[in-house]
Amino acid sequence: MKVPNKVRIGPHRFDIKFVNPLLLEGEEVCGLSDTQKCLLQINTFQTPSMQADTLLHEILHMVHNIQLGLTLTEDITIKEELLTTLTATSLCQVFRDNPKVINWILNSL
Ligand SMILES: [Zn+2]
Repeated sequence: MKVPNKVRIGPHRFDIKFVNPLLLEGEEVCGLSDTQKCLLQINTFQTPSMQADTLLHEILHMVHNIQLGLTLTEDITIKEELLTTLTATSLCQVFRDNPKVINWILNSL
């Protein structure tokens, strides 16, 4: 299946890049999102299912950032990261195990 290279989030179109290595302050990370550059980067050192989870994770970060306009204090950043991780991983399972429900939702939009 063709890998996606763009995603719309709110009023913006983000580029998606699958890269390796992907470093943040010298440390290898699974994914990064950049609001100013409208760029999501996914590290290809992960399995395909982990890359999907990471892409959904980065999309959710941008949803929170753009749609909620969160001001990221240190306390909110930690809670937002936990919520994002829990939600992305949980939605990956829901999407995988319920294709009829997901197709119904997509067809109803
Ligand atoms: Zn994160």
